[in-house]
Amino acid sequence: MIVPAAGLRGQKAPSSLHDAFDSQQAYSYTAQVASFGERWPGTTGHAKTEKLIHDVLKKDGAQVEADDFTAMTPGGFVPVHNIIGKFNVSADPRQPIFILAGHYDTLHKAGFIGANDGGSSTAILLSFADALAHQKTRMQIWLVWTDLEEGTFVDNDGLYGSRHLAKKLKDDGRSDRIKGFFLLDMIGDKDLNVAREAQSTRALQDVIAAAAKQLNYSRYFFQYDTAITDDHVEFLNVGIPAVDVVDAEFGRMGPRFDGMGEFHHANTDTMDKVSRSSLEITGRTILLSVELLDR
Ligand SMILES: [Zn+2]
Repeated sequence: MIVPAAGLRGQKAPSSLHDAFDSQQAYSYTAQVASFGERWPGTTGHAKTEKLIHDVLKKDGAQVEADDFTAMTPGGFVPVHNIIGKFNVSADPRQPIFILAGHYDTLHKAGFIGANDGGSSTAILLSFADALAHQKTRMQIWLVWTDLEEGTFVDNDGLYGSRHLAKKLKDDGRSDRIKGFFLLDMIGDKDLNVAREAQSTRALQDVIAAAAKQLNYSRYFFQYDTAITDDHVEFLNVGIPAVDVVDAEFGRMGPRFDGMGEFHHANTDTMDKVSRSSLEITGRTILLSVELLDR
């Protein structure tokens, strides 16, 4: 029997935020969330996802803020629960804030599991929480799980949770302290290619590009342009710089498929379309971007 030396057991504390990102755990979280099944508000899967988020935030020592309200939608009244987990909160009332966000609800469609669309965004934020639990930042980092991003699809609606939260932060004055907002969406796609989303704040995209370059991941970022209506738009609308970190080409593209690819909003959005490697590339790049912005 060979006993590994202490330094080879992988128990050494990571020296940086991006090195603290555990892609194996992120993949496990994605599988766990996908196993909950359909996850639009009111479903058992949605409640299980909420509980998982709260359990991880508690384990990781986050300060939790709830943003609960009832949305009036074309499909009726829907209870909406945005969840905010805060890390490295100082006593300074002017401490800058940076937000990493993603939606945890799924499309309201029978049999839709959303391993990538809803699952990967939920999971990568859970792994961000695990990384932040042991890493100091000067900025206050908020992880925001938005709800009812997908809407009811009675009338092409959506973005309910983000709209409500962005307005609340504008109204109570906290938006002035928010230095930026990165939205993670569909970034578990095993064929990862993050779009240069046209409405996003260019200066923040440049920071992500610099981080990707440093990690040798440039080929996965900003190789094509597109415009996506996503949660980041609501934060841009209240003056917060924001980037949609979105892989907008999910599976084959073309006239026979949805505009975001063959697996987008299809019941084939399952775990076999997600990879640990894509979660690793996105997770490490985003956390290094936060480190660069924290200097
Ligand atoms: Zn979607």
